[in-house]
Amino acid sequence: MINIPKGTKDVLPLESYKWHYIENIARETASLFGVKEIRTPTFEHTELFLRGVGDTTDIVNKEMYTFEDKGKRSITLKPEGTAGVARAFIENGLVSLPMPVKMYYITPVFRYERPQAGRLREHHQFGVEFYGAKSADIDAEVILLANTLLTKAGLNVKLNINSMGCEKCRKEYNAKLKEFFKDNLSNMCPTCKERYEKNPLRILDCKEEGCKKINENAPSILDFLCDECSEHFESLKAHLDVAGLEYAINPKIVRGLDYYTKTVFEFVTTSLGSQGTVCGGGRYDKLIEQIGGTSVPGVGFGMGLERVIMLMEAEGVNIPNDDKVTVFIASMGESANKKAFELSYKLRLKGVSAETDHIGRSFKSQFKYADKIGAKYVIALGDDELLSGVCKVKKMADGTESEIKLDKVLEYNF
Ligand code: ATP
Ligand code: MG
Repeated sequence: MINIPKGTKDVLPLESYKWHYIENIARETASLFGVKEIRTPTFEHTELFLRGVGDTTDIVNKEMYTFEDKGKRSITLKPEGTAGVARAFIENGLVSLPMPVKMYYITPVFRYERPQAGRLREHHQFGVEFYGAKSADIDAEVILLANTLLTKAGLNVKLNINSMGCEKCRKEYNAKLKEFFKDNLSNMCPTCKERYEKNPLRILDCKEEGCKKINENAPSILDFLCDECSEHFESLKAHLDVAGLEYAINPKIVRGLDYYTKTVFEFVTTSLGSQGTVCGGGRYDKLIEQIGGTSVPGVGFGMGLERVIMLMEAEGVNIPNDDKVTVFIASMGESANKKAFELSYKLRLKGVSAETDHIGRSFKSQFKYADKIGAKYVIALGDDELLSGVCKVKKMADGTESEIKLDKVLEYNF
């Protein structure tokens, strides 16, 4: 017996409707906001993530699935969605499209993490990337898109926002942070000791209890924003206010990726234990330049679809199952079986989902089976029906039966 790799999951036939449901909501919401789909490869050159995501991040340091292909190139399975889209944007000259360019993706994401509930080695993200607009109203629009999707999915989540400033504000803030952490260094986890040297801001993102405690009293980035970043943050809040979306300001949100500037945000819930972040994003005005393009501002988010589905289940959201069959044609005897086979095919051609028996079940167990698969109607065909040219259609919801001519089955309004 060969088992599934650790940290991966099968989506089984009886649960795939949940995925269709949330993916449809995601696509519909994207369309309402004028966002078009982009699909990029599952793997990229490793260099893209080193430059795009940043080599002081957990993702690049510890979590990437990197291998050498047969042509001796270093290849990495997507550890997030943004870098690939940014590469495609530059490579395909999308900068010449009318701005803003609004794109979304639904993609598998691979991270070598310690698997636990809501934390997988392959998970799936819906994400958006808006390029070409600097002002904070578009940050608000991106946040509202995520909120619309989560609301349509029947979820109750909280929005946290922050600003990470720009290079200018961060320089001063980093110095202050180092000063603050200096005395606490001996009580911090080994990773944070490294972060202290390379990128002290990352320490604020640490999930170790000891470091979290120290972080409580750390200076706030919001006290170090330059005028431009500060106005941007005020404008973001004003736009969320006019939309009537509530938020909390949380200066500890720094996000796990290096490319963020100004706005960062997270949608969180307390219903999923410690894996409560369902969506995270922000602005990245330097990313396109960092990976070799011209200067184009961007903003977006990534949303973990496994976590969204887990949350829907935890909150008891009713996920409608449209995968049910409309008509089951039960039959007995060789001629009736053939007729049932013919009719089920012709019904499908007309857009009505139809099933018939393939296992040689008795009439009674065909009815039971039809019930099990959720058939809305059952037609029973035997020699009598073939002879009289009339059959019965049973509506399963209330058990009512109506008689129709066999040659009118295809026109029946199921
Ligand atoms: P976390 O702090 O939970 O590790 P992150 O900051 O690494 O999250 P992002 O890189 O922002 O997460 O990814 C966007 C979203 O994708 C997250 O908010 C989460 O919903 C989901 N996600 C991230 N990593 C995983 C994972 N290993 N398994 C399942 N979902 C994940
Ligand atoms: Mg992570």
